[in-house]
Amino acid sequence: MNISYELESITPLTVANTTGEGRGNAGGLSLRNFCVAIDSTMYVKTGELLRKNLESHFGVPVKYLVVTHYHGDHIFGFKPFKDVCILSSELTSKIMLNKETKSRYQDFIKELAKEGPIGEGIEYIVPTLLFTDKLIIQDDDLHIEIYHTGGHTAGSSFISFPHEKVVFAGDLIFENTFPYAGDPTCNPELLIKALEKMQDIKADIYIPGHGPILKGPSALNRHIKFYKDLRNIIKDAINDNLKAADVSVPDVFGEPEDERKNMTVNTWVNFYKNK
Ligand SMILES: [Zn+2]
Repeated sequence: MNISYELESITPLTVANTTGEGRGNAGGLSLRNFCVAIDSTMYVKTGELLRKNLESHFGVPVKYLVVTHYHGDHIFGFKPFKDVCILSSELTSKIMLNKETKSRYQDFIKELAKEGPIGEGIEYIVPTLLFTDKLIIQDDDLHIEIYHTGGHTAGSSFISFPHEKVVFAGDLIFENTFPYAGDPTCNPELLIKALEKMQDIKADIYIPGHGPILKGPSALNRHIKFYKDLRNIIKDAINDNLKAADVSVPDVFGEPEDERKNMTVNTWVNFYKNK
């Protein structure tokens, strides 16, 4: 089976693959003496190609892998990065170590193995270096800033590379597709705040967790509006005692699959009911 995983040059020092071939988008950036991978795709094979292509593109070794959050389509490709430092927010690692996530993901990994070669060999690896609020990785005159914000998941984080004016947003942004905001740890208020914080950074390019890149901070407007509109719809639905299936959501990102929509609506209803 011939699997390829090409990296698109986004700026001179950043690359990404936003085709969906590895499910969650992944990419990386180069500082002066090493490069940093960001997320690892859902498969070992695409994770391997990500590392290989990063190192050949930039001509320096990968020293860190930063993971934006714990979802399988971003962490199941960790195996080829076992010898480098895998970084996440403290909450991402906490969620990964929790019994419920572990057993749910062991089942998920078994299911993927049935899909044939692409899904084989996944190991459940927990990050080893953890940060709480913000972390800076510095090399000579270049640095990146990693912010833990929560939102899409409690551990969600994004990465800013000021020199290139690029932000790696993880799943805080789904571009051109209905977002999944139904994780049990999703916090709608923190999600909106995270998008506003990213917008304040005024990057030229935002690389989402799913879908194509966004250009400029104004491209985040419709995402912020979507979540704020959804918040109003959910609050009304609570008042009217509606079932998830009867709630209609904004269609700016297209018609959602029922399952994804209902999970999101139920999570948001629970969140605002208990506020
Ligand atoms: Zn996710």
